[in-house]
Amino acid sequence: MTSAAAYAIPAPDGAFEKVTIQRRELGPHDVLIDVKFAGICHSDIHTARDEWGGTKYPCVPGHEIAGLVAAVGSAVSKHKVGDRVGVGCMVNSCGRCGPCLADEEQYCANGATMTYNTEVDPSVQPEGYTMGGYSTQVVVTENFVVQIPEGIGLDVAAPLLCAGVTLFSPLRHWNAGPGKKVAIIGMGGLGHVGVKIAAAMGAEVTVLSHSLSKQEDGKRFGAHHYYATSDKQTFKELRNRFDLILNTVSADLPIDSYMRLLNLNGTLVILGLPEKPLAVKPFTIAGYRRSLAGSMIGGIAQTQEMLNFCAEHGIGAEIEVISADEIDNAYDRVVASDVRYRFVIDAATI
Ligand code: NAP
Ligand code: ZN
Repeated sequence: MTSAAAYAIPAPDGAFEKVTIQRRELGPHDVLIDVKFAGICHSDIHTARDEWGGTKYPCVPGHEIAGLVAAVGSAVSKHKVGDRVGVGCMVNSCGRCGPCLADEEQYCANGATMTYNTEVDPSVQPEGYTMGGYSTQVVVTENFVVQIPEGIGLDVAAPLLCAGVTLFSPLRHWNAGPGKKVAIIGMGGLGHVGVKIAAAMGAEVTVLSHSLSKQEDGKRFGAHHYYATSDKQTFKELRNRFDLILNTVSADLPIDSYMRLLNLNGTLVILGLPEKPLAVKPFTIAGYRRSLAGSMIGGIAQTQEMLNFCAEHGIGAEIEVISADEIDNAYDRVVASDVRYRFVIDAATI
């Protein structure tokens, strides 16, 4: 076992505190990573505050991990000491089911092992459940470690490991590109990288944000149009407009109104994960052959493809680097939509 320093939250209403956790001895296929940066995703907040239920405490969140390989197991062939690497939302899956064989491990029929808060054998993580990237070191099996191309800083790459692939995957699946009108609801951590990626794919990109306060940034990230959803006129003007709408909002939205912005055969994809059920009128969907869909992160091969795409197009996240003792305050600011556009923890401060 190796001791690692980490920041853990002890209870849903607790504050983060520094703790020591154990990482397993390297198995033949394991990679030991010195974490350099860990992004703060809104899913970390939903989990840390037990908004989805089932959080195990103490909880060490963090699934946007960028770092350097410190050691490798005897059979590791994909990574070597010193490599710039990343780990996203998953650290393992069964490898045998249909989705795993199709490189869609996030939909593993036997349940993927998520980077934190998934029950595992104590030989995998001594606490009996996974502990994430708000930590100085992680041990991950080599197939769930990706390479971060030269040309993207580790700090701006970290958020791509979740936010980047969560947007890249549906944009690819629903063929975003030239001639396609894509709207992104919410320009936070997920949304802002979605704007950059969709624009780089050649789509016509519209941001639907609660206000126009981030309009200049949105245009700088590549958006062609920017609308405030607080303005009722927006919903009249954009009716039947889009081929694809990606909803990244972490709060409940009147989704039926957004569905009506879809063109014939258009699809609205749910990415944001508040708890309440969605309400859509059957007529809204049937009347214009619209689809309501959802998407979860992306597979490991696609995560690598996304990183290569981002390196090629000069895309990184817009970040504010914080020290580990600022996590609680950063969480409050994310919830208040007061982040431009992702907080990233400097692991040297853990
Ligand atoms: P974030 O940085 O907090 O961004 C969410 C954005 O939603 C905000 O910037 C804001 O954008 C908008 N928003 C927030 N509260 C709102 C409200 N009350 N009404 C209307 N708009 C509001 O969060 P994130 O890290 O991007 O994550 C977003 C959601 O995606 C979370 O629920 C997270 O759990 C989920 N998620 C899902 C996946 C997946 O695989 N499906 C992966 C990662 C995260 P504007 O200011 O522009 O309106
Ligand atoms: Zn995430």
